[in-house]
Amino acid sequence: MFNIDNIRAQFPILSREINGKPLAYLDNAASAQKPQAVIDAIAGQMSTSFANVHRGLHTMANETTEAFEDARAKVASFLGAPKPDNIVFTKGATEALNLAAHGLAGEIKAGDEIIISQMEHHSNIVPWHFLRERYGAVLKFIPVTEQGELDLAAYKAMLGPKTKIVSIVHMSNVLGTVNPVKEMGEWAHAAGAIFVVDGTQAAVHMPIDVVDIDADLFCMTGHKLYGPTGIGALYGKTEMLERMQPFNGGGEMIEDVFEDRVTYNDPPHKFEAGTPPIIQAIGLGAAIDWYTQFDPADVHQHEMAVYYHALDGLRSINSFRLIGDAKEKGSVLAFNLEGAHAHDVAQILDKYGIAVRAGQHCTQPLMTKLGIHSTARASFGIYNTLDEADRLIEGVKKAATFLS
Ligand SMILES: *Cc1c(COP(=O)(O)O)cnc(C)c1O
Repeated sequence: MFNIDNIRAQFPILSREINGKPLAYLDNAASAQKPQAVIDAIAGQMSTSFANVHRGLHTMANETTEAFEDARAKVASFLGAPKPDNIVFTKGATEALNLAAHGLAGEIKAGDEIIISQMEHHSNIVPWHFLRERYGAVLKFIPVTEQGELDLAAYKAMLGPKTKIVSIVHMSNVLGTVNPVKEMGEWAHAAGAIFVVDGTQAAVHMPIDVVDIDADLFCMTGHKLYGPTGIGALYGKTEMLERMQPFNGGGEMIEDVFEDRVTYNDPPHKFEAGTPPIIQAIGLGAAIDWYTQFDPADVHQHEMAVYYHALDGLRSINSFRLIGDAKEKGSVLAFNLEGAHAHDVAQILDKYGIAVRAGQHCTQPLMTKLGIHSTARASFGIYNTLDEADRLIEGVKKAATFLS
């Protein structure tokens, strides 16, 4: 089943050349490429049946509503959610986390504590800063160790009666670290706190079971899961979605609107004001169908084989420094060359057709903690090969010679 040539052949973009070289796309943690099945599903929906959802009585309105709600069911089953109504469609993980923070804002009083970590993406930091600025919440950051793991003893010591929310990244987009979210959630719940998980990267690299994790809220995004941009999801336990306040107001999210009051629709519709990203949701459903044909163990084994192959070769370069060496990690390889700027490394690699990211990766507090300004980052997905890892090694060797 797991045939890399067959998989690559399904991604039209992978046959592109960049600067006269075959493309080696190693920027999957930023966004992944799309297989033909997803492209066809999106184009197909627009070519054969399209209308607005939930409000028509005509045939195509019904067909499109069915396809849209079917996509919700696919997301639910992909995340292990009990039912489709536990899934709110959002425009991505960032919007899902903003919805979480705004939805819970009404419960926050001055002095209430929100625990996040130093390895969070800005999208799991800034929405909580809003609650600090507007309602006087106190933000606490679980420290990251030298190896790139969370200091769990420090976390345990932070929890207390004032802890209202704990929001943690499942897998870091920089360090690749996979955090023990199930255990962290148990501790959060024991302290009476709501437990939120940023599953944006994890959903792409390991099987997810939100019930087993016992997350109150869990977010994911489509564009990193070989699906389109403009679509993501927030999973919420039923009682959590009932408890949360809506964030956007408008059509579809209401039950009744009067001059002096308004009543809301049931979740998830309560959170989906206006015309939703219909086409994108259907594209995400197609991406999940495509991706779940593979055994997650095969995907993991393949991605980690490419990761370790690249790492072994890169370690032979004197100035190479790996950023993030956790015991539990996924296929994200952040690094620096001593004395060189990450942007220069990325630019040289681009000349050889190799796409990597360079910068702060939306994790400025993590960069500050590690005492660095930026990193280069190669992140491997389902279609990357050992040959591409070799090209990365060769490219970084050239960069090291050139920049030192
Ligand atoms: C990419 C990413 C996000 C933001 O996701 P968007 O869908 O682009 O908004 C949040 N958290 C992590 C860990 C990410 O990697």
